[in-house]
Amino acid sequence: MPEACQVCAQAFEPEVGFYWGAMYISYGFSTVIVAIVGVMLYFLANDPEVWVYVVAVAAAVLLFTPLMFRYARAVMLYAFGGTRYDAGYAPRAM
Ligand SMILES: [Zn+2]
Repeated sequence: MPEACQVCAQAFEPEVGFYWGAMYISYGFSTVIVAIVGVMLYFLANDPEVWVYVVAVAAAVLLFTPLMFRYARAVMLYAFGGTRYDAGYAPRAM
C-alpha cells in the first residue's frame, strides 16, 4: 500500500497503528463469509458432514483474504480516517 495518494497526496496512514482497527472489520467480513458458505452448504449440499463445512469455510475465507484485507483497510480509512471522496476534485499540477 502506498504511503500517500499519488493524485491528491492524501496520507493513507493518518496515525501510527491506525489499521489495527481494520482487523475487527476484516473479522466481520470473514464472519459474513462463514455464515453465507455455511447456509449455502446446508441448503444446497443437503447438510453435509462437519469436515465439509470446515474445509469449505476455510477455503472460502482463504480465497477472499486479499479482498477482505484491502476492503477492511478502505472501510477503516473512510470510517475513521477523516477521508471523504470528492468527485469534483481536480488534482493540481505538481
Ligand atoms: Zn487521492
